[in-house]
Amino acid sequence: MADKISLFDEVNRSFDKAAVLTDHEPSLLAQIRECNAVYHMSFPIKRDDGTIDTIHAWRAEHSHHKLPSKGGIRYSLLVNEDEVKALAALMTYKCAIVDVPFGGAKGGVKINSHDYSRAELERITRRFAYELIRKNFIGPGIDVPAPDFGTGPREMAWIADTYQTLSAGELNSLACVTGKPIAQGGIRGRIEATGRGVFFGIREACNLEEEMKSLGLATGIEGKRIVIQGLGNVGYHAAHFLEEAGAVLVGVAEYEGAISKLDGIDLEALVAYRKETGSLLDFPGAENLADSRDALELDCDILVPAALENQITLENAPRIRAKIVAEAANGPTTFEADAILAEKGVLVIPDTYLNAGGVTVSYFEWVKNLSHVRFGRLNKRSVAAALGRMADAVEQITGKRLPGEREMYARGAGEEDLVVSGLEDTMIESFRQVLETQKSLDPQPDMRTAAYVLAINKIALCYQELGIFP
Ligand code: NAD
Repeated sequence: MADKISLFDEVNRSFDKAAVLTDHEPSLLAQIRECNAVYHMSFPIKRDDGTIDTIHAWRAEHSHHKLPSKGGIRYSLLVNEDEVKALAALMTYKCAIVDVPFGGAKGGVKINSHDYSRAELERITRRFAYELIRKNFIGPGIDVPAPDFGTGPREMAWIADTYQTLSAGELNSLACVTGKPIAQGGIRGRIEATGRGVFFGIREACNLEEEMKSLGLATGIEGKRIVIQGLGNVGYHAAHFLEEAGAVLVGVAEYEGAISKLDGIDLEALVAYRKETGSLLDFPGAENLADSRDALELDCDILVPAALENQITLENAPRIRAKIVAEAANGPTTFEADAILAEKGVLVIPDTYLNAGGVTVSYFEWVKNLSHVRFGRLNKRSVAAALGRMADAVEQITGKRLPGEREMYARGAGEEDLVVSGLEDTMIESFRQVLETQKSLDPQPDMRTAAYVLAINKIALCYQELGIFP
């Protein structure tokens, strides 16, 4: 099913639906919609047993309206040129929505990372990085990759090291990639950033009184029944923060199968169980589902697809029972399925907004690398001292002791506090902007369309201010 759908067409159908609600010139809209550059490479890799594999990989830079372009690198057998272009386009719109000053890009290597040893993965990653360098598809001011499906800090460290090796003396070379380990120039809070952002976005939506009322739900996260598809970086962290806020995890799907448990699955116990047994099936007290995709149809309040695209389709959309679909993954709902969900009154919190926490914190990491100083390093003590003096004054005036506040002030705000605060502010502010855009249109479109209109308007302004388009 996934192979038959052109994801780039899907993205462009959503774009077109929003574009007609704007009054921009067709030529300007066409410029925004197109993918600016794609590089398809193939290279040989020697396996540990001496045989040779030919690896196919892509990097798409969808938009150069702001530089560098930015987007993750995915390792998956489903990677192809169409997918990479589509995901790059989503990055363009995502960055615009959350006011992160990048164009959109995406990379993909067509491999199943589980089929390769660590040494083989290192050879593939370094060669991929080398190919990007050779064609000028990577660099702190050119194009800055990050982790995505199947990749993480380890792969980013290999990319940064390859880039640094080949760019001796380039002061900003660490800013060529984000999502790096902390000791390699990474930033605290990046690993969990996308999942944490997903949590903030869901929290904002669940605080909308009227929306919740019309869905027959109470406001707030507490007690909401959640189903998660994909317990990887994004899915695990989203589940973690939702559970911490009082949500009940009633279903989890992974590639090997799915489980459900109406009175709640203990996330950490499940992760430990899966680590030990290699599968989430037969988790004590839970029911196994025949097919992993059946989890998408479980009765729940919030369905969080956090694996891959094209999961909610024309075929299964009519059977979705969730009241809210929170798109942690990129492109999990097809264009046609989206219409069915809308008809059913399901609230879809779109990917272009909801999973933007990753690129937001990647932006903070890039800024940190360029400024060569950890956030909070200069002002932490001085802010703590100023707040301490303020606490002295308040205690004197009120005659009350403030031990909790004092402890917090004395600790000051470290890098992680600042990252979380910047991320939370971004997710709240961009949610407000999406809602404002939605309310400004008559008739009011769905949240995805409003998010696209917001992105299109911001990108259009960039081109207009250059004087290229009317
Ligand atoms: P990941 O590789 O860490 O995790 C993906 C998980 O999904 C894995 O555990 C995998 O086993 C599971 N999975 C694969 N196929 C599945 C299936 N058919 N059913 C159920 N589970 C399945 O990847 P990730 O970084 O968490 O990315 C997940 C999604 O989030 C992708 O769409 C990605 O583009 C998007 N995303 C990621 C980031 C990021 O910062 N990593 C940022 C924005 C968006």
